[in-house]
Amino acid sequence: MSKVYLKNDDMPKQWYNILADLPTPMDPPISPFTGKHVTFDEMKAIFPPHLIEQEMSIQKWIDIPEKVLDVLSIWRPSPLIRAKRFEELLGTPAKIYYKYEGVSPAGSHKPNTAVAQAYYNKINGIKRLTTETGAGQWGSSLALACKMFEMECRVYMVKISYYQKPYRKSFMRLFGAEVIPSPSEMTNSGREVLKRNPDSNGSLGIAISEAVEEAANRQDTNYALGSVLNHVLLHQTVIGLEAIKQFDIIGDYPDNIYASCGGGSNFGGIAFPFLEKKLKGIKDVKAIAVEPSSCPTLTKGVFEYDYGDEAKLTPIMKMYTLGHDFEPPAIHAGGLRYHGDSPIVSYLYNKGIIGAESVQQSEVFKAGLMFAQSEAIVPAPESAHAIAAVIKEALRCKETGESKTLLICLSGHGFFDMGSYDAYLDGKLSDYEYPEEAIQESLKHLPKI
Ligand SMILES: *Cc1c(COP(=O)(O)O)cnc(C)c1O
Repeated sequence: MSKVYLKNDDMPKQWYNILADLPTPMDPPISPFTGKHVTFDEMKAIFPPHLIEQEMSIQKWIDIPEKVLDVLSIWRPSPLIRAKRFEELLGTPAKIYYKYEGVSPAGSHKPNTAVAQAYYNKINGIKRLTTETGAGQWGSSLALACKMFEMECRVYMVKISYYQKPYRKSFMRLFGAEVIPSPSEMTNSGREVLKRNPDSNGSLGIAISEAVEEAANRQDTNYALGSVLNHVLLHQTVIGLEAIKQFDIIGDYPDNIYASCGGGSNFGGIAFPFLEKKLKGIKDVKAIAVEPSSCPTLTKGVFEYDYGDEAKLTPIMKMYTLGHDFEPPAIHAGGLRYHGDSPIVSYLYNKGIIGAESVQQSEVFKAGLMFAQSEAIVPAPESAHAIAAVIKEALRCKETGESKTLLICLSGHGFFDMGSYDAYLDGKLSDYEYPEEAIQESLKHLPKI
């Protein structure tokens, strides 16, 4: 069997909260304004109570509301597919499976949390959501989710992507969202950046500052974040929970799991349900977060408290970071250009419970092309990072003759990334040196906790 579909009824009815199973508690987030632990009331300025509860909860299983399941069932459960042609192409004895999240309406895993976040805001009387988007995946997902619950949505889109990915902007507008290139004149944070640098290309850190500032200043408006936070990773665990059921059906289990890592949400989503069994000593698994070598947060960053955004408006979190004012090179996998990482993923990496690898941009596109030409699915450049790492392991298995089972989170399709594939096919795509100097400079500006 090369493809395992579940029925709608087989969708998980609860999210898995890995915080319940960690060997020691995590370091709490700190308020940038008081220097003390962030309080529930401070978070209420931009998040609804249910999401704040989930952010702090250590309850192991959390019910998925009926109305959220109803929207998720438009595309979930997503298929688990054995990549037989890809295995043949590589000549590997390893079995390679991918969980395909590109079947969602926005083309990635991100609607899994966008729908839940829009729902909880809606039932709390919130009428508008603001957010940021880099490559446009998260903005598309939130625009879609807001439309499903009849809410307004404003997206601050990193300026360079706004011009490079015009069809992502069209997608968001089609679902009723307003899209603003960031930095903009609409917020203090945006105006400050433009004063310093009128030609700024923008960054995720700057766009987050703009979206948070607007949400904090308006009663009817909250903010939604597409990755990094605990509740976002919680919502993504439907990916791994489904995958476990699918492996049950075929009687297999992954030795290694690979997912690209920007803020850690598709990685956490697929890996955490498997890590539950690892943490309990039931079944071992190697989960590997794969990041770009030009924005190597886990593999080259430091594990320290840092801000989540450029203007220092978000809570200070203990995480692997390259510094909140580090502007990563303009690689084509826009979704992986973030200076920090999920505090949970950071904790797990620091404790040696998960692994991390980095890959170069040219390897990534080569891997994406090999995958497309064998499996007939065009992967998002982000997802192709995981594929690049799997290729290395599959070729290692070829040398040693090991028949390992390898699982990829194919977090999205690359239909909006044709410009990047064109650049690769035309031989115009370059690798970036590890930006050591810029990172060292930025790391000088970490907050003192
Ligand atoms: C946003 C995105 C990522 C990276 O974000 P994570 O939070 O690390 O998952 C990876 N793949 C795709 C397709 C994305 O849209």
